[in-house]
Amino acid sequence: MAVRLLSKIRLVPELRGAAYSSAAAQLSDFEVQHKTPVIRKQKIIPVAQYGGRHAVTMLPGGGIGPEVMGYVREIFKYIGAPIDFEVVDIDPTVDNDEDVQYAITTIKRNGVGLKGNIETKSEAAYVTSRNVALRNELDMYAYVLNCKSFPGVPTRHKDIDVVIIRQNTEGEYAMLEHESVYGVIESMKVVTATNSERVCRFAFEFAKRNGRKKVTTVHKANIMKLSDGLFLETSRRLARDEYPEIEHNDMIIDNCCMQLVAKPHQFDVMLMTNLYGSIVSNVVCGLLGGAGLLSGRNYGDHYAVFEPGTRNTGTAIAGKNIANPIAMINASVDMLEHLGHHYHADLIRRAVNKTINVDKIVTPDVGGTASSTEVVNNIMVNIGKMARG
Ligand code: ADP
Ligand code: MG
Repeated sequence: MAVRLLSKIRLVPELRGAAYSSAAAQLSDFEVQHKTPVIRKQKIIPVAQYGGRHAVTMLPGGGIGPEVMGYVREIFKYIGAPIDFEVVDIDPTVDNDEDVQYAITTIKRNGVGLKGNIETKSEAAYVTSRNVALRNELDMYAYVLNCKSFPGVPTRHKDIDVVIIRQNTEGEYAMLEHESVYGVIESMKVVTATNSERVCRFAFEFAKRNGRKKVTTVHKANIMKLSDGLFLETSRRLARDEYPEIEHNDMIIDNCCMQLVAKPHQFDVMLMTNLYGSIVSNVVCGLLGGAGLLSGRNYGDHYAVFEPGTRNTGTAIAGKNIANPIAMINASVDMLEHLGHHYHADLIRRAVNKTINVDKIVTPDVGGTASSTEVVNNIMVNIGKMARG
């Protein structure tokens, strides 16, 4: 183990100083890491399209991933959606990244991916999260989560309509951690001007194009004055200089969480760095009915990957026919829309909404008694009726 760690991350014991010359002997006990997936600049490759059909990379991932992907394929087959999936299974137990590199190559070729949550079972520090590697290597710097209440799902607050836009490749997810001296771990939060500007501009453009009125930057710049300060200042500058028509304010992350659970209607578009985005996304998904409903979108300048909004694996509920299939189905609808297949997207979206809001055929996580397959069957029955009538 020690040898492997050394060769992989090139940890140099001399750097630790004379007092720690025995550190090499203890390497296997340390969580030391000097490696992070690179954020690669992308070259444009035309998206693969064959005879009006799109090829899309499907990464089922672990937990409930394979079963919910199965439902998506069933629905797509039923409605004749012009999509051919290229399925890539990633073995969660291996320490090398060959599968992930292959997956990345296919997404570059297809331009678009649909994914579950990919597990990384290895606990070795040099094995980085595959989900992060994928986002970084494809330079998908923005994550978008549309959070709109479903009238049929019983929740404390009604009519929430918030969009979360999250920096998706750096910040607290830089995965640059090291042990500077024995017993002292440092973890770097990397915030760059370029990536801050890209995601802030993305948020204001999103607001402008979608008729949204307000952008709220969420931060902790009172404590992290340089990193969050840069992000906050970038958003303020863009708001002032380039998007005067959009109202802009900011809120500290802790207060933001309190405001969200107490008075969520004050928010419109929310903009934040990576980890806050993960936390706030889960808070809002919780407000709207949990992990099984919403879908999220990863965007770069050239590639887009669609997935369930909370990025859960759902290992405990896998194989029991109780997982809520809606989040992944919604992700597949986002994907169809992105590719311009509006007829099919609209048909599935309406059938899903009727199933949740009118028929109220839902899984136990949102207060129902239906199994996953009963929900999917009901969606297909609705599609049949809507397509005919
Ligand atoms: P993580 O993978 O982030 O550790 P889990 O997989 O444990 O998270 O999911 C968090 C919670 O959300 C669990 O209680 C899980 O059962 C629930 N959950 C996740 N996805 C779904 C789904 N599609 N339908 C119903 N419950 C879900
Ligand atoms: Mg998990």
